[in-house]
Amino acid sequence: MSCTFTPAFCRIDLAAIRRNFHRMGSPADLMPVIKSDAYGHGLLPVARVLAEEGALRFAVGTADEGAELRRAGMGQEIVPLMGCLTGDDWRTAAACGLTPLITCFDDIAAAAAAASACGARRLPVALKCDTGMGRLGFAPEDAPALAERLRAHPALAPRLALSHLSSVDMPTEDAYTEMQIRRFERFLAGLRTAFPDILPSLGNSAATLGPARQRSGICRPGLALYGGDPFAGTGRELADGSLEWAMSIAAPILAVHPLRAGESVSYGRIFTAPRDMRVAVAAAGYATGYARALSGRVSLLVRGRRVPQVGRICMSMLMLDVSALPETTRGDLAWALGGPAEPGDRPVDAQELAQLLDTIPYEILCLMGALNPRRYV
Ligand SMILES: *Cc1c(COP(=O)(O)O)cnc(C)c1O
Repeated sequence: MSCTFTPAFCRIDLAAIRRNFHRMGSPADLMPVIKSDAYGHGLLPVARVLAEEGALRFAVGTADEGAELRRAGMGQEIVPLMGCLTGDDWRTAAACGLTPLITCFDDIAAAAAAASACGARRLPVALKCDTGMGRLGFAPEDAPALAERLRAHPALAPRLALSHLSSVDMPTEDAYTEMQIRRFERFLAGLRTAFPDILPSLGNSAATLGPARQRSGICRPGLALYGGDPFAGTGRELADGSLEWAMSIAAPILAVHPLRAGESVSYGRIFTAPRDMRVAVAAAGYATGYARALSGRVSLLVRGRRVPQVGRICMSMLMLDVSALPETTRGDLAWALGGPAEPGDRPVDAQELAQLLDTIPYEILCLMGALNPRRYV
């Protein structure tokens, strides 16, 4: 972005990400997920701190993201989770020494061709199984045929067997998770005679931190690295409670003015002052990921206190009722996520906004992190 279109900013606490990473266990058992610009936290800054903390592998979305990590000098094993679609993707994967996914039989020839075109003697690959997500990969029953076909391509070195659990965050779906784990075990068994050293990788954040951990192989936590509790609202408690959110969003207050009883604010006049009030105008709106659907249903933190948002949320501004905080002035910060709270108040987090919007915190983090200029602490 060459010029910013908002004075708001996204504050990323990299130390929180370091601490969250260590809560996931030993780096040797992990492949942290930093796809989609590290869920809006920034691919390279997050990769760098995880590398410093001992990360041996990364899961990214595209081969391009993997190439970006290589250009930054990172030597970890890198798996692009969306697979390789075009010839360019395969060339990038082979030239950068990524570990591309093999998701279907056609991928085998494409991977082998790319390896030979760039003179790679050995291209590591990850074999993807669909155990019940219904997205990418082979059926478990395909494993023997897959192993057979791979043996015809000595340049391809199967390193990992991957699958993804669809509902391991839902205690009510434990039976389905069990079925997926068993299908994965069948896939692995079908590969192991040909590739005895292949490593299994099954779990996401919920598997990493929940009862499925022991059977999830190398875990691929995403959300939990950034502070999200994958079991929020399910009744399943995390063993060691405290993950820390890494992202905060601060919007400077542009103006404070009186609003007399009977006067309205913002588009469509959905809010009319029931009494004389003071209103602050803060620089956040739907253009920077603060959804208009939150209008009148949400609060922000000003001077450590929660204050209600009033009226329609605009493209890059919103209004707050700061009547209870008469000292509020232009230049103060309104925190849409995180920020310092006084005793008795707590910051808004991505889980709370997600609930209001009938979505998940992933979406809040990706959008707000992408749309607000980031500052690292
Ligand atoms: C995104 C993703 C993950 C990480 O999931 P979280 O719920 O964020 O921990 C792991 N594996 C795959 C294949 C993914 O696409």
